[in-house]
Amino acid sequence: MQKQPTPTDAEGVTDGSCQRYTILLPGIPVSSTRGALGWSTVALIETGGLRILFDTGSYGDRSLLIERLQALSLDPQALDAVFISHLHYDHCQNIDLFADIPLFVSEREHRYVLEGEYRERRDPYVPAATILSLKDRFKTVLDGSELFPNVKVVALPGHTPGQAGLFLSREKILLAGDGVKNAWEFANRMAPPAFFSEAAALSNYDWVMANATEIVPGHDRPFRLQADGTPAYLTPAAEVTLNLFPGPGLEPKAVRLF
Ligand SMILES: [Zn+2]
Repeated sequence: MQKQPTPTDAEGVTDGSCQRYTILLPGIPVSSTRGALGWSTVALIETGGLRILFDTGSYGDRSLLIERLQALSLDPQALDAVFISHLHYDHCQNIDLFADIPLFVSEREHRYVLEGEYRERRDPYVPAATILSLKDRFKTVLDGSELFPNVKVVALPGHTPGQAGLFLSREKILLAGDGVKNAWEFANRMAPPAFFSEAAALSNYDWVMANATEIVPGHDRPFRLQADGTPAYLTPAAEVTLNLFPGPGLEPKAVRLF
């Protein structure tokens, strides 16, 4: 009989106890001169018999996300919840795949989009048409509330006003979204691009240092904080290859990142 894939078979990280997460799509710390690439982390949290999807990636992630869910024999409708860290296109664009399950976002982020504040702040990354068409599906949550037992909502404002993470409090694991975008920014105390407040974004790092031992960034692989506070990656870099087609008569080139 063929072995059923387990969450840890898919680039997963597990802490070996009852709260764990699996990286479905790895966040990639990269930017480009040809616009944002938006390769964000999509993770599956398993806790107390519940399965929560953390973020859904961007539209370019859609087929790969479907593939990864299928590889784990996971029906999108069988999940218990989807939590969206913030309403940028690279984190929330596939929410419509999860039609009948609770969809959580912070109350502040929901207002940021529905009341049009994102326009005043000149934030170009909000896919407003998608969000407005699904606006009644969102259930809003407040900073500090327990989404489920031992799964706490943590406000990490700065990048956007309502950006929030989930803290697996038993294991002190923080799924940070773009509250911690990548290990380089975190180690160098650089804020992510701030549509709300750079100072707030930086003060989130203090909360993270004081409370979390393991961090899953919005656009990087998971890391642990060492005793001196510096990050140490928990997994090898994800393999990403760019296939370039330089022109007719020229050999295509494969360029591997990292
Ligand atoms: Zn992002």
